[in-house]
Amino acid sequence: MDRTIIAEKLVKTYDKGFRAVNDVSFQVESGEIFGFLGPNGAGKSTTVAMLTTLALPTEGRALVGGYNVLSQAGQVRRIAGVALQEIGIDPLMKSLELLTLQARLFGMKPREAKARAAELLEVVKLSEFTDRPVGKYSGGMRRRLDLALALVHEPAILFLDEPTTGLDPASRRDIWAEVRRLNRESGMTIFLTTQYLEEADELADRIAIINRGEIAVEGKPAALKAALGASPST
Ligand code: ADP
Ligand code: MG
Repeated sequence: MDRTIIAEKLVKTYDKGFRAVNDVSFQVESGEIFGFLGPNGAGKSTTVAMLTTLALPTEGRALVGGYNVLSQAGQVRRIAGVALQEIGIDPLMKSLELLTLQARLFGMKPREAKARAAELLEVVKLSEFTDRPVGKYSGGMRRRLDLALALVHEPAILFLDEPTTGLDPASRRDIWAEVRRLNRESGMTIFLTTQYLEEADELADRIAIINRGEIAVEGKPAALKAALGASPST
């Protein structure tokens, strides 16, 4: 199965010609964890949105799992899962209902959908909290639920948009462990955006640094840290 991500000269222009993403190209290999590192406003979420068919590229081309995000959007949605920043979820819903609903949206029958939902709650360690409305979840629990929602249809390629921003160190480590496990056990390709060099360094096989819509540098974490002049401890 093709689990690669290819972006070729992607551009996203918003009103008044502002280029939120400006000529971005990169390639992610099958089974790789790719870190997309950049500050607020750099264009990370916009790039993720284009790669997951949630926003149309203004220019350029992208292939996810070999499928074109423009002409084969349905196939891209099948092969890719995405956990977005701040999606609106009804705070009164329970995690089991939400996941079951998501599974139904992906075409599972009611019983199968419920079983899948329960299984995913085990995976992200939320089984004990299925009765609590998701509006009352902690930040770490919410991120684990977002992750479960992205995994419902067993995607081969996973997009995580700032999965640990705002989390305490312990919750962050939980997410890191889960990301590594998913990658190791299922060979899932993972595209992860972050504002933290530490996180990209910890998780990613390769990193691209994006700033003001453009890729500044790309490479293995060790080489990038050397180029940035970071000491080994940071
Ligand atoms: P990041 O995820 O790296 O923080 P974004 O991709 O969200 O960055 O945003 C990149 C730039 O595009 C920012 O300057 C942001 O304000 C702008 N932007 C994002 N979405 C929109 C939109 N829907 N309309 C206009 N500008 C937007
Ligand atoms: Mg963002």
